[in-house]
Amino acid sequence: MFFAVITILPEMFTALTEFGITGRAIANHQADVLLINPRDFTSDNYRRIDERPFGGGAGMVMMAEPLAKAIDYAKSQALARGKSNCPVVYLSPQGKTLAEPMVLDLCEHDGLILLCGRYDGIDERLLQQYVDREISIGDYVLSGGELPAMVVMDSMIRRLPHVMGDNASAVQDSFVDGLLDYPQYTKPLKFGEQAVPEVLLSGHHANIAKWRFVEQAKRTQARRPDLWQAFSPDKQQQKWLKDSL
Ligand code: SAH
Repeated sequence: MFFAVITILPEMFTALTEFGITGRAIANHQADVLLINPRDFTSDNYRRIDERPFGGGAGMVMMAEPLAKAIDYAKSQALARGKSNCPVVYLSPQGKTLAEPMVLDLCEHDGLILLCGRYDGIDERLLQQYVDREISIGDYVLSGGELPAMVVMDSMIRRLPHVMGDNASAVQDSFVDGLLDYPQYTKPLKFGEQAVPEVLLSGHHANIAKWRFVEQAKRTQARRPDLWQAFSPDKQQQKWLKDSL
């Protein structure tokens, strides 16, 4: 998976590239991250990227030209890597909200060109001429697209084959099967007054699977009735649900 990220703050991306699962996936060449600073595509001595908005108002707006050149460069780099199917994504509070089904859909591409806004946003003409889709990470406004770009990349990288060992724990994550994850316990056996649920110590795999599924069902019903409504249990799960009533 190829990610070209257009950002005036490339240093921020060490949080993704140097740590944890994402850092390891990049070191193992399962994900390739190219950071592109649009200031390198400016033509003035000050490497200026922003200007005052026409019509007045507080704040600054990112100019179209350096961003257009940066996107063209990102596309040429994608092609040079044989990654032809890389849509241009603008991280924006006005985009469609990221959710697991969208993550899986994004993973179908060869890669993404991620455009990170700063200041008050980007000249609308650049968005109309160069951007294929806009993605939001939620209904709140951040000061830049860098954290959202890292959120999108992290959510995708953990879905790539072989990134999570045998990918077993990614398959169990919340949302993946349409339900929230079951509760987890580890050492010690007793924490405060609370013991670990007996069934988890039994070594009885079928009982454990049933207990975990029923916990998932209870949690999802209580916390996310919308997800529960959309969930259709298979035969085995229907039986487990009946037994647990
Ligand atoms: N005035 C703009 C927001 C500018 S915030 C508007 O209301 O649309 C500066 C940058 O942060 C944006 O260009 C965008 O890239 C990023 N950003 C802010 N909030 C975001 C969110 N919820 N999701 C994705 N990107 C966001």
